[in-house]
Amino acid sequence: MKRRKLLMIPGPIEFEPAVLRALGSPTTSHVAPDFIETFGNSLELMKEVWKSPSGQPFIIAGTGTLAMDLAGANLIEEGDKALVISTGYFGERFADLLGRYGAEVKILKAAVGQVIPEEEIEKALKSDHYKLLTFTHVDTSTAVKVDPEPIGKLGKKYGVLTILDGVCSVAGEEIEQDEWGIDVVLTASQKAIGVPPGLALLVVSEKAIEVWRNRKSPVLNYYADWTNWLPIMTAYAERKSSYFGTPAVNLVAALEVSLKLILEEGMDERIKRHEKIAEAFRKSFIAMGLEMIPQNKNICANTLSAPYYPEGVDGAALLKEIGKNGVILAGGLLPEIRANYFRVGHMGAVNQSDALATIGALEAALQKCGHQAEAGVGITAALQVLNS
Ligand code: PMP
Repeated sequence: MKRRKLLMIPGPIEFEPAVLRALGSPTTSHVAPDFIETFGNSLELMKEVWKSPSGQPFIIAGTGTLAMDLAGANLIEEGDKALVISTGYFGERFADLLGRYGAEVKILKAAVGQVIPEEEIEKALKSDHYKLLTFTHVDTSTAVKVDPEPIGKLGKKYGVLTILDGVCSVAGEEIEQDEWGIDVVLTASQKAIGVPPGLALLVVSEKAIEVWRNRKSPVLNYYADWTNWLPIMTAYAERKSSYFGTPAVNLVAALEVSLKLILEEGMDERIKRHEKIAEAFRKSFIAMGLEMIPQNKNICANTLSAPYYPEGVDGAALLKEIGKNGVILAGGLLPEIRANYFRVGHMGAVNQSDALATIGALEAALQKCGHQAEAGVGITAALQVLNS
């Protein structure tokens, strides 16, 4: 009997065997020539994945929240005004974090399953002098996707730095950092980047680096201070070693492998694969009578889905039953509706068989839990998309 289950949560995800092999290879010194090469390559490959030839990449041991902290701590000074565009739990987190560094935060909070209209963002930018704005590409608590391009352009128009939380999107959704004029695009290793948890990854524009250089007060977070990290990134990019904090050597080795696999597939192909699998999931959920949190198709993420439990089905029992069928899914996260929905991650190495196995496990569990739906409608709907 196969003892492992299929991990279909929105991070950590299922990882490529080659990535896991790199993680399990003997740990080298962080100043060894092969590691210097690996680190330097990873920095270069990040710029290709982020589509930011002009950006400054950072690879730092920590989680996605550290990546958010790096942006907040380095770019905010006491009394700066920040606009947070929130489409769920992680928008609220950014607001809290910026406040901790002394920002005066205004939050534009979208209704559950909705986005903030562009005009409303522009109205806010017109009405005050913000130093920066943050927004979440895909909020993992709602599966709502925001279109970053117009927001990047608004940031340029009003001279406001733009910070994109791409934890649940980088390498799974389309991103053109330079083209869209976004100053910071940040993520974590455990999602579509395809490396086990433990790396905070971000690419920062020249303009944001300049804003940081012109600070009047010291950065209020010692570990996150770019003063400590920028020389390290510059050194490794020039294939020299340097030390501030010990790099997560094995994770960086795994990162290089994963970034190469991502670019081998090609960004366009990769995004298309994510779109197709996401659509297969959505069509199957609808066929099974489940309603999605995002209120229209254009704002549904391609990296995860968040359907409500159907009427009369006990959510905890359903997830347990799906687990018995060999698939691990995640429960709700947004506090106000946490008990009413679940989440399915479909990013990174995900393939057609993973999608079909998950939909099959869900369909069988729904039947067990008393939901009335014709047997096989979910799989049929998914196949229509996958075979098209
Ligand atoms: N932002 C988003 C959109 C996320 O999905 C997450 C993690 N689920 C985070 C930030 C925080 O990342 P981490 O859990 O790695 O700290």
